[in-house]
Amino acid sequence: MQVKRLKKGDMVKVIAGKEKGKTGKVIKIVSDKDQVVVEKLNFIKRHKKPDAKGKGGIVEKEGPLNISNVMFLCNKCDTGVRVGYKILEDGGKSRVCKKCNEILDT
Ligand SMILES: [Zn+2]
Repeated sequence: MQVKRLKKGDMVKVIAGKEKGKTGKVIKIVSDKDQVVVEKLNFIKRHKKPDAKGKGGIVEKEGPLNISNVMFLCNKCDTGVRVGYKILEDGGKSRVCKKCNEILDT
């Protein structure tokens, strides 16, 4: 499962679709749909019904991106990378960049 390799708060790079090349922070993971929501990316317009104060209209909100369209952004490589796992000396598990082997979880 690709989706489990990403966590809320991770920085990702978009590799396909209309936001291709952009980077942002994961703010939500929709694991059952294999989607992620990235801060300030893929804005979609939503019609909002007027509330009690009479305010309605169109609001812009981040829309979900397919998980296969984003890659983990490695600070060291400065690009989107594949994520692997490494067993640490203390027995714990950490995510690593498959390109530079940098440990991604601290
Ligand atoms: Zn890297």
